Amino acid sequence: MSSRTGAGRLQILTLSCLLLTAGAACAADSGPNPAPHGLLTENVVLIVPDGIRWQEVFTGAEKALLNDKEGGSWLDDRTLLENFWRDDVAERRRLLFPFLWGTVAKQGQLFGNKAFGSSAHVTNGVAFSYPGYNELVAGFGDPRIDSNEFGPNPNLNVFEWLNGQPDLRGRVAVYGTWGAFGDIFNRERSGLHVQAGPHSRSGKLTPRDELLNDLYGTTTLLDADDLYNSFTQVAMLDYVKEARPRVLFVGYGETDSWAHSGRYDLVLTAARQVDRFVEQLWNTMQSMPQYRGKTTFIVTTDHGRGSGPVDWKEHGIDSPGSEDIWIAVIGPDTPALGERRDVPPVTQAQVAATLAALLGRDFRQAAPKAAPPLPDVVAPGPRAGPGKPQ
Ligand SMILES: [Zn+2]
Repeated sequence: MSSRTGAGRLQILTLSCLLLTAGAACAADSGPNPAPHGLLTENVVLIVPDGIRWQEVFTGAEKALLNDKEGGSWLDDRTLLENFWRDDVAERRRLLFPFLWGTVAKQGQLFGNKAFGSSAHVTNGVAFSYPGYNELVAGFGDPRIDSNEFGPNPNLNVFEWLNGQPDLRGRVAVYGTWGAFGDIFNRERSGLHVQAGPHSRSGKLTPRDELLNDLYGTTTLLDADDLYNSFTQVAMLDYVKEARPRVLFVGYGETDSWAHSGRYDLVLTAARQVDRFVEQLWNTMQSMPQYRGKTTFIVTTDHGRGSGPVDWKEHGIDSPGSEDIWIAVIGPDTPALGERRDVPPVTQAQVAATLAALLGRDFRQAAPKAAPPLPDVVAPGPRAGPGKPQ
């Protein structure tokens, strides 16, 4: 499967423009052109499903938990095995994450398979949600942030910083199921467009908005401040089509909530659906001229979880292994190195500067505490050079 096809696509588009001799249409649907810094990425999306373990990402469902006793499953064992188990590990993980393994692993990169010498971990020392999201967007673990109810985040985040730049102002948005994202991104100070948690949309409402508002008010949630992913997906996709943000955060819940509830069957079901949501967003964007061939996705998680028959449900300092995460990247500037093996450890703190670097900017100038970008993920330079992976 071809990996970085920017150059080929550019040639095809140029040819079709000549044939069409429709200058205006060609300009509106122009293919990727490298910016002066040599990068093709013009849009970046950071996607974070909450608390999905690296074990599931790299090895699929865990057999010891595919039952009622340890996994708390309401499905019968045979159906569980049919739905989630294959003896071959590559088949099994692809069954759970078809987009990650069918597309991202072929065209992009995945860090965090500890079984093959790739570690991705948090540096915040506590391995729960708010500290993890802060580390992702501020670029460092902050020991002051010691609670999910911490309140407004004092740290500059990379979305806020990008939104302050003239060419990106008003083109940066945050969609997440969890109400706390309002504080994590410090909506008051940052002025970012933040749609977080089960909060009604206001202003001019379409019939779809009215339906969503109705559902927000009438659906019994597992956690009162955490909306189901499907509702956020609908609102987020509508926003992408309307407002065409250039920098977007998408936070998905459910996986963490179902794990805390001890329902491994629903953790797996929600994880597989998240993979479909990511694919849906990718395909939606690739169908739009603004995004096609010019968009990079970073997909990661805020923390891992414990292991064994009980600890998989929890995370934090009392659940060893919760510090381990995974990071996936796909886009026109990311070499197709696939599943990374035998590489130096990477950290959650590196995501913020990576996001900015993909847009040709240095977040560390504004946030000196931020960790440097991930190695070998942002590769400037023309795509057409010899030796490029195809
Ligand atoms: Zn979390």
